[in-house]
Amino acid sequence: MSFYNTFEHYKNFDFNNCFAGITDNQVQAAIQKEVLSHNDILALLSPCAEKQLEQMAQISQKITFQNFGKAIVLYTPIYISDYCDNHCAYCSFNRTNKITRKKLSFEEIEKEAISIASTGLRHILVLTGDSRKYSPVSYICEAIKILKKYFPAISLEIYALEEAEYAEIIEAGADGLTIYQETYDEELYEKLHPAGPKRNYIYRMDAPERACKAWMRSVNVGALLGLSDWRKEVFFTLLHAQYLQDKYTDTEISVSFPRMRPHTGKFDVSFPVSDKHLVQMILATRIFLKRAGITISTRENSKFRDNLMGLGVTRMSIGSNTAVGGHTTGNEYGQFQIADNRNIETFKQVILDKGFEPVLKDWQNITKL
Ligand code: SF4
Repeated sequence: MSFYNTFEHYKNFDFNNCFAGITDNQVQAAIQKEVLSHNDILALLSPCAEKQLEQMAQISQKITFQNFGKAIVLYTPIYISDYCDNHCAYCSFNRTNKITRKKLSFEEIEKEAISIASTGLRHILVLTGDSRKYSPVSYICEAIKILKKYFPAISLEIYALEEAEYAEIIEAGADGLTIYQETYDEELYEKLHPAGPKRNYIYRMDAPERACKAWMRSVNVGALLGLSDWRKEVFFTLLHAQYLQDKYTDTEISVSFPRMRPHTGKFDVSFPVSDKHLVQMILATRIFLKRAGITISTRENSKFRDNLMGLGVTRMSIGSNTAVGGHTTGNEYGQFQIADNRNIETFKQVILDKGFEPVLKDWQNITKL
């Protein structure tokens, strides 16, 4: 039994008809419930719910303050290799794109770590392309061992691993995993991933569960917004998060909403997502998954991000650079363009001015010191 069984149940579901038929009363009922059903999630994600965002925002804020206070945890990504064997149509690091590839040496990783740590940040997200040749698990483990001298919390956004490999990286000092399904539409997934190891849809779908089985402390799931109908993508994302939360109660499950940004290569956003709809999905998520973390990255612009505080978001990146060695080497070939270029000090002050608390460290992996 895996999440794929839940997914299969809805595979041929008529979402369009269902969303079109949802009424104000169904949305109202969903907003008021303590424990929501799958039908309630559909109601909160429906076009009809757009008229009730104000009330959803009030409930979402209350739930967020009850469970997380006014804390906003800050983190930043560190890209250590962009070699990739995949053809993901929407990504600069797609192996067919003619960019100058780079993999950091361990000395370069330490320099990046020192540069990032000097800003005060203590949560780091390590990224690599999908290449077992250039960034094998052994390389990632060595990188983690260097990074843990500077960062008490280390998450990874890398290719899907076996359960035993997740156990290895945890042993090395990692405590969090971010892995997006990209799209839960199985047919579209095949089209967007024409070659490479990532082509295996079910293997990727089961990766968050393998990490939970290996006792990863936190696991973050999501879909890349813009590839398909966001309402369906968010519905499956929330079901996936709920499945993991119910089955692996020791793991902290969170959800991200990465919206597509300009990048190298020709790929148009097929299903643009508006700011209003991004807000709706955040509110629906908070009302449904009361204890789940919600992440918004620097893909979003500063004004929009500032306005999202208090609506359910608990974690935000800042000081981001999506190029390998981007903090120290001047490499310009980033994975995608970021939209919020503020530095950490400026962003911390904005958070304080809005009455929230910027949190640089909320976790210390004491067994790995
Ligand atoms: S999304 Fe990941 S796997 Fe796909 S091309 Fe980009 S780096 Fe490679």
